[in-house]
Amino acid sequence: MAEKRPNIHPFFTVKKKKPTKSTVDAESSPDLSTSINDVNNVNTEEISDEGSSIVVVDDQREEDVSSSFTDDQSGKQLSKCELVCCASLTMYVPASASELQSTLTQDKRSCQVLWFNIYSWLTFCKTTKKLYCFSCRAAVNQKLHQPNGLAAHMSFTSSGFSDWKNALRALAQHNSSRFHSECLYISQQQSRPSVIARIDTASRQQQEQRRQLLMAEASSLQYLLRQGIPFRGHTEVEGNLIQLMRLRSADIPGLHQWLDNKRYLSHDIINELAKEMALIILRSICVEISERPFFSLICDESTDESAKTQLSISIRSVDACFGIHEDCLGLYELESQNAEHITTVILDVLLRCSLSLDACRGQGYDGAATMSGIHDGVAANILRKQKKAFFVHCNAHSLDLALQDLSKESIAINTAINVTKDIVNFVRRSPKRLNIAEKLSYDLSIKSSQLKPLCPTRWTVRASSMNSLLTNYQLVKSVMQEVVDQKGTSGVAAAGWLNQMENFQTFFGLKLGHLIFVATEELSCSLQRVENSLHDVLCAVNVLINYFTRIRSDEYFENFYSKLVAEAEYLTDEPRMPRNRRPPSRFITDATQIPRIPSTCTELYKNQYQNVIDGVLKALNNRFKQSIFPLLCEVQEFLITVANGSESDIIDKLCAEIQDFGWITKYIQYE
Ligand SMILES: [Zn+2]
Ligand SMILES: [Zn+2]
Repeated sequence: MAEKRPNIHPFFTVKKKKPTKSTVDAESSPDLSTSINDVNNVNTEEISDEGSSIVVVDDQREEDVSSSFTDDQSGKQLSKCELVCCASLTMYVPASASELQSTLTQDKRSCQVLWFNIYSWLTFCKTTKKLYCFSCRAAVNQKLHQPNGLAAHMSFTSSGFSDWKNALRALAQHNSSRFHSECLYISQQQSRPSVIARIDTASRQQQEQRRQLLMAEASSLQYLLRQGIPFRGHTEVEGNLIQLMRLRSADIPGLHQWLDNKRYLSHDIINELAKEMALIILRSICVEISERPFFSLICDESTDESAKTQLSISIRSVDACFGIHEDCLGLYELESQNAEHITTVILDVLLRCSLSLDACRGQGYDGAATMSGIHDGVAANILRKQKKAFFVHCNAHSLDLALQDLSKESIAINTAINVTKDIVNFVRRSPKRLNIAEKLSYDLSIKSSQLKPLCPTRWTVRASSMNSLLTNYQLVKSVMQEVVDQKGTSGVAAAGWLNQMENFQTFFGLKLGHLIFVATEELSCSLQRVENSLHDVLCAVNVLINYFTRIRSDEYFENFYSKLVAEAEYLTDEPRMPRNRRPPSRFITDATQIPRIPSTCTELYKNQYQNVIDGVLKALNNRFKQSIFPLLCEVQEFLITVANGSESDIIDKLCAEIQDFGWITKYIQYE
C-alpha cells in the first residue's frame, strides 16, 4: 500500500524550487503533487468572483493542470486514499484540532476545524493531509462532470487543497461556484433512486403494511377465540370482529381502509384463519404429548344446544419431571352413540394426532354402559387392542353418583334439594319478586345476599345454593308473605312455599343438606384437580369417610341440633312430632314388626341425621371400590420406589406383585 502512494513534497519546498524554469520542467512531470500545488497556489489568486467560466489561465499553467489531471485519471490515489477518510460514504471531518496538527506549515498556518462547520461539503484526507469537496470529487471520479482543467476546481476534486493562507477565500469561492452547484445537483440526482427502484420500494412498503394489517386482523381473531366470543352478529357490521377492529383502527394506521376494503374479511377466510390457529395449537399439544412415553385417554360425550352429540377427548400425560398434564384435543361430533362408533372416532383422532395406541396406559370415562360396559363398551374395545390401557371410572362422576344415590334414599336430603331449587327459582326468576326482596331488605334492615340457583347437573353448586337460601331465610319468608298478600296465582304458590318454610323439618333438612354437601363438594373440587394421583384421590375419599364417621357421633349431633333449634326459634315453628300412624290392629299379627316410633323430637331428628350420614358413607364406600384400584396403587408405589432409587430387592418384590395382580384382574374382568 505504501509504495503505491507517490512521494508528496510539502508545499513550501516546491515553492522554493519554482523560480528556475529547469527545475519546474524537471520536477513537474515525475512529481504530480508539485505541479498541482503549484497550479493551485497561483490560480486561487486569479479566480474571479463571477465563476469558473471566466477564469483565465496562462498556457504554461494549463499544461501543468492537464498533466496532473491525466495522471490522476491513471491513479486515483491522489484524490482518494484507501483509509477511512476517503473510503467511507460520507465526508471525513476530523474529530479534534489535534488531528490537524500535521498540516502545520512553516509559516505556522494549518487547516482549521471551524471550516468543517461552515462548509458541510468539506472532507479531509489523512494521507495527503489536504482538503477536498466531497460532492465535486465524487462527481469527477464517477466521470459525471469535469472541471475542464480549471485548477481552482481541480484542487478540490483531484489534487487536494492545502493553501491554508488563502483558505477562507478559496473555500467561499468554491462554495459559490457554478461547478460546485452543478456537482451538488448531480450528486443529489445520483442519490435519488430510479423509477423502477421507487416502484419496487413502494410496493414492498405496501406489502409490509398490508401484512401488518392482516396480522392485526389475525390478532383480533385470536383475542375473540381466546375469550370464547362469537365473531359475527345479526349484521356483518355489528359483529364483534368488525367492531373490535374498528376500535383498534384508532391505534393502527391503515386499519380503517383495510376494513372499508373488505378483503380478507369473508366468512371463508375468517373461518380458515380460526381453523389454522386451532391446528397450530393442536399440533404443538400433540408434539408435547408425543415427547412423553405414555398417556391416558379421558373422554365424555355431551349433547349441545343444536342437539348434536359431541365427544370431548382429553389426554393425560406425565412429563420427565413428573409434572401431570391434561390437554384437550377438542370436541368431535358423533354420528351415533354406540360403542363401536365412539371407539372408531377415538382411534381416528389418535391417528390424526400421531399418538400411538401402544403408548396408551389408561382410560377414564363416565359410568354409562356405552363407555364402560365390560363386554362391548368403549373401554373394553380399546382394552382388546391395548391390554395395558386400564379403565378407571371417573372419580368425580363416581362421587356425583354417590350423592345421587343419597338423594334417592334420603327423603330429608331430597326434599332439601327440591325446596332450595324451587324457592330460589321462584324468587330469582321474577324481577318483581327481586324488587320486593330489595325493598324489604331495606325496610326491615335485613342483610341480604344474592340467591344462587341450584342446577341438578352441576356438581359443586348445591352447598352454595342451600347456604344462600339459609342466610336469606327471613327475607325470603317476608317476600313470600308479601306475594301471598298480593294474591293471584303466584300468591297461591307462595303460600305453599311459606307454609313449607315455616316447618322446622324443612329448615333441618336444609341445614343437614348443607352440612353434607359442603364436605362432598370440597372433595369434588379436589378430585377435578389435574395434579392429583389415584393415591391422592383415595386418600381424600378416606378423609371424607373419616369426617362423616366422626360427625355421626351423638355428641356432634347434640351440638349441631342445639345450635339449629336456637337458630330456628324465630324462623320456623317449634319442632314437633309427626302424627302417630299406627296400622289397624287387624293387620298386626306380630307386635315386634311394628317400627319403633321415636319418643322425642331430638330422637326423631337424630335418627334422620344418622340415617343420612350412613347413606353417604355407604354410597362412598360402594362407589370408590373399583377392582382396578389396588393394582394401580401398586403400580404407582412401584414407580415412586424406582424413582426414589430404593433397594433392588424391594423393586423386584413389587414387580412380582404387580404381575400377579395384573393377570388376575384382567382374567376376572375381561376374559
Ligand atoms: Zn484519505
Ligand atoms: Zn464542490
